[in-house]
Amino acid sequence: MQYHVWTIGCQMNVADSQRVAAGLERLGYTATDHAEEADIVVLNTCVVRQQPEDKVVGRLQQLRNFKAKHPERVLALMGCMVGTREKAALEQRFPWVDLFLPPSDPTELWAYLAQRELLDEAQTLIADAESRRLALGRTDTVLPPSEESYTVSAYLPIVLGCSHACTYCVIPYRRGAERSRPLETIVAEAQQLASQGVKEITLLGQIVDRYGYDLPEFAGATQTPLVTVLQRVHEIEGVARIRFLTSHPNWMRDDLLDAVAALPKVCEHIEVPIQAGNDEVLARMRRGYTVDDYRRLVARIRDRIPGVSIATDIIVGFPGETEAQFEDTLALLEELQLDKAHIARYSSRPLTVATRTMDDNLTYDEKERRRRELDQAQTRILKKLNARFEGQEVEVLVEGQKKGRWFGRTRTDRLVFFSAERNWLGHIARLKVTWTGPWSLIGETIIDA
Ligand code: SAH
Repeated sequence: MQYHVWTIGCQMNVADSQRVAAGLERLGYTATDHAEEADIVVLNTCVVRQQPEDKVVGRLQQLRNFKAKHPERVLALMGCMVGTREKAALEQRFPWVDLFLPPSDPTELWAYLAQRELLDEAQTLIADAESRRLALGRTDTVLPPSEESYTVSAYLPIVLGCSHACTYCVIPYRRGAERSRPLETIVAEAQQLASQGVKEITLLGQIVDRYGYDLPEFAGATQTPLVTVLQRVHEIEGVARIRFLTSHPNWMRDDLLDAVAALPKVCEHIEVPIQAGNDEVLARMRRGYTVDDYRRLVARIRDRIPGVSIATDIIVGFPGETEAQFEDTLALLEELQLDKAHIARYSSRPLTVATRTMDDNLTYDEKERRRRELDQAQTRILKKLNARFEGQEVEVLVEGQKKGRWFGRTRTDRLVFFSAERNWLGHIARLKVTWTGPWSLIGETIIDA
């Protein structure tokens, strides 16, 4: 019996897919890279912009024949396309799909399989998911146990959903309200990951720095709850590195920044989206801060965390964004010299405030021009920032091999390639940087005297 899980979208989806795969392996299925060979196909979907949604629809069309030929095989659609209430509409549109699973919740898949064939074991998966109320499955089914699925670096969701309601964003409508997972569940899962050989754990949330504020166990706590999570995961033997993302500027308290600086396993890397470099646009996005607030935050992060790298997200072509407002964003990127910027063209999403109340007035070509301009500016910045690493020593956690070279990331999330005979997978390599580009570095191993 074979399964195939196809995933697009954010890190949360990657984490959800790993849990589905782990559950299926518990039930005796093995992974295959070819959907056509699989008894169970799960498509884990993203609808944050139109483009990933179109990709899912394309994939569903391809699989229509597969289902016609093999009606006994199972096709499940999971993730943000399904959300919490799209199921009925999707059933009409894609009648060849057997199951519709909301984000982070494969319970219905287990129920279906329990009914069809694998009653007992699937029942335990359901019972366990329900007892946790978060439906992510047992803590010993976090990662698939098979050797092919081994990953050096794994994601651990700590906050599900989002309640912020930025005017452009569909995520709250699809992933539901914000809810934090209990501290002990997170620690148990981190221990499980470590026991499976995972070296780097990235804690996930839409607004990860809001972790715990909804949990009674943190009521009245003076320390930021995320700091407690970092401290607890830090204690786990085998875990070499810890990261967390995505942060919202308004929740980055000083004790969190200080914990990043003080805890050796926590990497000096902060992902904190600004989205736009103009106050009017930020207000219409309902982000809840000004450009100056963000400037001060960047200064505070840099001041408290020596050697930190900062990554951001930007949306260009938001409804009504003028040329001058766009240029403010461009100027801000030049000013802040951030270590990474993910730039997206605005995409109108169903139900959002922006779609209901604002005119998506910019053409695709105009949005694309703005995206390209920012991208080019950021590429120049990265080229310059990375050039500083030439001849420097860096520490890289090795994640795999590509085209005969090992690759991994520095603590500050820079991608580094190097050549070496021995098996470096999962080890930390000390490298001397011999070449730098905007997107990656090349290094050579340093032989200790
Ligand atoms: N919760 C995080 C990440 C959300 S999704 C946050 O609040 O920043 C990741 C990125 O997708 C966002 O940071 C944003 O830059 C982008 N994005 C979200 N909705 C979008 C939309 N409708 N059009 C274009 N980009 C969007």
